[in-house]
Amino acid sequence: MSEQKLLNYIDGKWQASSAKETLPVVNPATSEVMARVPLSPKSEVDAAAQAAKRASKDWARTPATDRIQVLFKLKQLLEDNLDDLAKSCTNECGKTYAESVGELRRAIENVEVACGIPIMMQGWNNEDIARGIDEHMIRQPLGVAAIIAPFNFPGMIPFWFLPYALATGNCVIVKPSEKCPMTQQKIFALFEKLNLAPGIMQLVNGAGETVDAILDHPAIRAISMVGSTPAARHIYARAAANGKRAQCQAGAKNPVVIMPDADMETATRILSDSAYGCAGQRCLALSVGITVGAARPAFVDCFSEATRNRKVGYGLDKGVETGAVISMASKERIEGLIAKAEQEGAKILVDGRGKKVPGYENGSFVFPTLLDNVPPHSEVAKTEIFGPVFSMMHAETLDEAIAMVNDREYGNMACIFTSSGAAARKFRQEAVAGNIGINIGVAAPMAFFPFSGWRESFFGDLHGQGTQAVEFFTETKVVVERWPKEWSRKF
Ligand code: NAD
Repeated sequence: MSEQKLLNYIDGKWQASSAKETLPVVNPATSEVMARVPLSPKSEVDAAAQAAKRASKDWARTPATDRIQVLFKLKQLLEDNLDDLAKSCTNECGKTYAESVGELRRAIENVEVACGIPIMMQGWNNEDIARGIDEHMIRQPLGVAAIIAPFNFPGMIPFWFLPYALATGNCVIVKPSEKCPMTQQKIFALFEKLNLAPGIMQLVNGAGETVDAILDHPAIRAISMVGSTPAARHIYARAAANGKRAQCQAGAKNPVVIMPDADMETATRILSDSAYGCAGQRCLALSVGITVGAARPAFVDCFSEATRNRKVGYGLDKGVETGAVISMASKERIEGLIAKAEQEGAKILVDGRGKKVPGYENGSFVFPTLLDNVPPHSEVAKTEIFGPVFSMMHAETLDEAIAMVNDREYGNMACIFTSSGAAARKFRQEAVAGNIGINIGVAAPMAFFPFSGWRESFFGDLHGQGTQAVEFFTETKVVVERWPKEWSRKF
C-alpha cells in the first residue's frame, strides 16, 4: 500500500507542499489509502497566483490561433490516456469504469468546443455610430482564474471551465477536491507535456483554508466552483466581497414526473440509471419520482424490480452498474437518512442498507434503495441525499405534479416521462429548473450549451461551458474612435 504524498504544480514545477496537515485519499470500494493530499497553506496559493500573474501578460498576447494549438494537443493526450484516467476516476471516487469513461468524454468535448475560441471570443462593431466615428467591443482575458472542484466528477468538472479560461488567454489555478485529487495529478502530468510557459496552469491541493486563500488573493480575478450548496454560498459571497466574479454550481434534488402514458419499460431503464448510476452521486441524479394517476402501480412495480436487480460492486469489475459511495461517513449519512425517511412515514420498498459486496467487505457500498409514500414536506424529501436512494410520491394530475416539482429549493434539473407532446410542452414551460429532461434521465447539457442550474443549485450569472464560459472568462472593452481625414498625410 503506497501512501504517496501528492504534489502541487506551481510555476512550471512539481513541488512538495509545506502543509502541516494531510488527508488520506481512500479508494471507496476497498477502503485502501492510496495517497495523502496536502492542505496547502496560503503561501503556496500566493506562489501560484503570483506565477500565474507573471505569465498572464504573454499568454493574453499569444494569438488565439496559437493558444488553441495547445488544446488540440491536450485533446490527443487525453484520448491517448483515457483508460488510465478512467481507472483513476473509478479508484478515487467509486463509480464504474464506463461512467468514468463517460465523464472523460465530456471533458474532451469541452476541449473540442474551446478550440472554436477564435470565433467564440469575437467582439462586435458598428461603423459610423456618429458621423466619422466607429465603435467596437473587444473581449480580453481577465488574467488569473481559479477552479474549485467537487469529488464526484474528478476528471470532468474542471473541464467545464478550464479549456475556455485557457483558450481565452487566462492563466488557471485548479484546486481539486481533497477527496478525489489523484486524477488531476495525472491530468497535470499531461499538461506538463504541452511545454506551456511556467505559471499558465497550476495545481494547488487543499480544502477549505486553501480555498479561502484563493478567494482572498488579489491577483485572482475569477472563481469557478462546483460543490454543495452551503460551500457554494460561502464561496460566492466571499468572492463577491473581494470584488471577484464568481460562478458557483451547487447542490440538487432532482424530480421526475412519470405520466400514465409513459412507456414504463423505457422509463424504468432510464430512471434506474439516473437514480442509481454513479451511486446517486451526480448533481443530475433523479432522486424524487412523482407518478401521476394510473402511472403509480405500473411504475412502482417495474421500478422496484429494477432497484432490486441492479448489480453493485467495485467499479472496475465487469457488469457492475452501481459502485461505492465516496466514504464510510457518506454511507452512514445516507443510511441514517433512509432510517429518518421511515420515521417520517415513508415505506421502504427496497432497502439497500447494511449490505456487503463479496470480496469488498470494507467498501462503502449502499445498495439501491426505493422509498414509497415519502411525505412531500418531510426532511428526506428536501435533503440532497447524494446516494442511490429514490423517493416516490404521487399526484392526481399533471398540474399537481408540476406544483410538487416547483415546491422545492433547488433547481438543477427536472424531467418528465410521457408520450404526450402537450404534457411535455407544458412541463418544459412551467417546471422551475435550469436543465429539463423530456424522456431523458440525466439532462446533462453538451459542452456547447450552458450547464444551467437555477435557485439554490447555482449562484452567479454565467454558467459553465460554451459561450457563457467564454463571456465569464473575458472582459468586454468598448472602443469609440474618430480619425478625421484632415489628420492623415496625403499619399
Ligand atoms: P463540497 O461542497 O464538499 O466541496 C466542493 C469544493 O468546495 C471542494 O473543492 C472543497 O474543498 C471546497 N469547500 C467545501 N467546503 C468549503 C468551505 N467551507 N470553504 C471553502 N471551500 C470549501 O462538495 P462535494 O461533496 O465535493 O461534492 C458534492 C456536491 O457537489 C453535491 O452537493 C453535488 O450536488 C454538487 N455538485 C453540483 C454540480 C452542479 O453542476 N450543480 C455538479 C457536481 C456536483
